Amino acid sequence: MKRITFLIFLTFTVLISNLPVFAEGVSSEITVFTDIPPDAWYIADVNSLTEAGLIDCSEGRFYPDKQLTCAEAVKLAVSINQLHYNGAVLIEQGEPWYKPYCEYLSDIGVDVSALDMEAEATRAEYIYIFASALKDSDLEAINQIPDGAITDVAADLPYVEAIYKFYRAGIICGSDENRSCHPDEYIKRSEAAAVAVRILDKERRIRFDMKEPVKHTLEVIDGVTYIDGVLIVNKTYPLPPEYAPGGLTKECSEAFVKLQAAAWKDGLNIYSVSDYRSYEYQKGLYQRYAARDGAAAADRYSARPGHSEHQTGLAIDCNSVYQSFADTAAGRWLAAHCHEYGFIIRYPKGAESITGYMFEPWHIRYLGNEMASKIHESGLTLEEYFGITSEYAE
Ligand SMILES: [Zn+2]
Repeated sequence: MKRITFLIFLTFTVLISNLPVFAEGVSSEITVFTDIPPDAWYIADVNSLTEAGLIDCSEGRFYPDKQLTCAEAVKLAVSINQLHYNGAVLIEQGEPWYKPYCEYLSDIGVDVSALDMEAEATRAEYIYIFASALKDSDLEAINQIPDGAITDVAADLPYVEAIYKFYRAGIICGSDENRSCHPDEYIKRSEAAAVAVRILDKERRIRFDMKEPVKHTLEVIDGVTYIDGVLIVNKTYPLPPEYAPGGLTKECSEAFVKLQAAAWKDGLNIYSVSDYRSYEYQKGLYQRYAARDGAAAADRYSARPGHSEHQTGLAIDCNSVYQSFADTAAGRWLAAHCHEYGFIIRYPKGAESITGYMFEPWHIRYLGNEMASKIHESGLTLEEYFGITSEYAE
């Protein structure tokens, strides 16, 4: 799609929407939506789409963090298709409201019958819907993305072709250091707006290099697993019973003293309620929990012997082992600053299926400043960062 075409959209829709036309580049900070902060990263994108008449602004709110449904994605894709190839959006709503949009896609050979229209669209589904509604000539490759380079998009994943097409065309560029796609995650309206603008305006597409996927080295030394030199213990990777540092390691305890001093300066008391636990101690602990709550429940919050990070001498439980700790001043401080002293919150909220444990705002793991900061900035769990699982074998 050429730049000029997009400007024509703007002019055309101004006639029907009575909105002011912003200068070329459309980077104005003015928004008609009351729920978009003036410094939002997506503000220019939302403005462009509003001016193009592709976003309904009658309600005065945009709901930037709301997830887009498949039906909404289909409507937006069809509208963009019609504007671009026919010069105007001619479709009217039916019953259910999105039916005519689905029929339109079906008429141009796009099969959306497998999608649940009223469910939130995953990123993969969103990309598929849009990639299918456009001609290949409007998705020319500007980036070199070798097959297999997007590490979280397996070759047999549905919509893999559409995802690569969008990366190559610079419409999406991935997140984190590997430029991961997160195909199964949902897409927010703010993100959807940015993607739609890059579809419409070739000048807004992103040129980038796809680095070789980061490869991690896994070594097992005397029964202990290290990835890139980082000792790993979780439900997949146990420690042998004889692994017994006897207490916190020197580096970990020195780092914790520094963390405590910094928190104290901020008027907060952070203290250990449990740190090193031997294999035998953990065995007794787990057995008591399993006897009380059953093994399945115990597995959500307590490690089986050999699988506890506390056996490493690198993990500390701080202050209170209740999830409400997260909402205390000390809990918030720990989450915001522990990486500065070499620690991470090991079991973050909403990651139970990845780490194997429910949210533990009190449990910190020592990794050293560099690795802790890298993981903190990535927003990933240790498991995701290293691409490993945390599941008991049986
Ligand atoms: Zn713990």
